[in-house]
Amino acid sequence: MKRKISILGSTGSIGRQALEVIEKLPDEFEVVSLAAGSNTELLNAQIKKFKPKYASASNLNEIEGAIAVTLEDICSDKENDIILVAVSGKIGLRPTITAINNGIDIALANKETLVMAGDIVMPLAKEKGVKIVPVDSEHCAIHQCIKDISQVDRLIITASGGPFLRKTVEEMKNATVEQALAHPRWNMGKKITVDSATLMNKGLEVIEAHHLFGMDYDRIKVVVHPQSVVHSAIEYVDGSVIAQLGLPSMHIPIQYAITYPDRFEGIKSRSFSFSEIARLDFEEPNWDKFKALSLAYEAGKLGGSATVCLNAANEESVFEFLEGRIKLFDIIDNVEEMMSKHTIIKNPDLDEIFEIDKEIRTKTREKLKAIV
Ligand code: NDP
Ligand code: MG
Repeated sequence: MKRKISILGSTGSIGRQALEVIEKLPDEFEVVSLAAGSNTELLNAQIKKFKPKYASASNLNEIEGAIAVTLEDICSDKENDIILVAVSGKIGLRPTITAINNGIDIALANKETLVMAGDIVMPLAKEKGVKIVPVDSEHCAIHQCIKDISQVDRLIITASGGPFLRKTVEEMKNATVEQALAHPRWNMGKKITVDSATLMNKGLEVIEAHHLFGMDYDRIKVVVHPQSVVHSAIEYVDGSVIAQLGLPSMHIPIQYAITYPDRFEGIKSRSFSFSEIARLDFEEPNWDKFKALSLAYEAGKLGGSATVCLNAANEESVFEFLEGRIKLFDIIDNVEEMMSKHTIIKNPDLDEIFEIDKEIRTKTREKLKAIV
């Protein structure tokens, strides 16, 4: 039986790679729906090739060759066995909740969903018997290493260090958008690439790991590993460390997440060679240079709406940076300021989460306007 799959964000970096995986596994998948934002030209080409019944885009009138529906419609369609949530940013949260409420398994790339509402999403998935399999390479690695979470002492998340690993604070301060987007290892969407340059991405991943694996923050460690070959590791209570290794490629974690618990050759390109890699380096993160990482830990430990505030202040500032209106460090300064002024709500419901998200974004835009 083919797995019926829908992809939210099919025109993005993850979405496009997911379709490449599916193309290699034609006997395993049937594409039910595809959803994009504004790139309807690519979406329509994908519709032609993968023949989904339904499709969604910001402008529904531009869709050709499939029935135009909303993201909510896609996620309410119980015909789906699995939905890959690969939209970027806060757009992912509501559809993910709808899919879970409809008992549909989730392959989750969109980490912002858990950063904003992990305390709602994870218990809901448990209640509905829905599997959430992470696409994010670090979490996918950890997912592959864990046999029994109760025996795990620590999670060790690796970080490539991004384009500014060897740059000075001064150089980072004056970084152009182009420099921030020049990631040494991964070719990703713009928002996550900027997050990788500030290490906010790693901070968001720490929060993501906390929710996915139910691990306390002081038992989640980040280590810089520039080669991105060790995708992450876990340490068992007896000190044994199990790591997952592979050549840097998002195809593999995407394939793992959408085919779990099976494994297929699929898109595998070539065999792994230890001697070819020859050496693996590890170092502590520079906490002074990459303040985003400590801010994310702080928000995570504070809990409640603190991570909603962190995420909104960051995402909105990243948009401003990408427009060339502010500097790279203004992103982090703004996150810090928004967090210091935020009154935390302990167990926010979804409405409160969206309200806080909106409020922080408005405050961020007002504040950053003053900087320009
Ligand atoms: P991209 O920016 O490349 O893609 C985002 C996708 O979302 C596009 O298909 C875009 O459509 C779509 N989209 C935007 N707005 C809407 C909307 N209103 N409704 C429906 N779809 C919309 O991002 P990435 O693929 O890089 O990242 C996606 C998610 O995966 C992020 O949360 C990121 O953190 C996570 N992730 C990504 C990794 C990577 O390697 N790229 C690695 C690990 C996690 P369009 O282009 O048509 O406007
Ligand atoms: Mg990652």
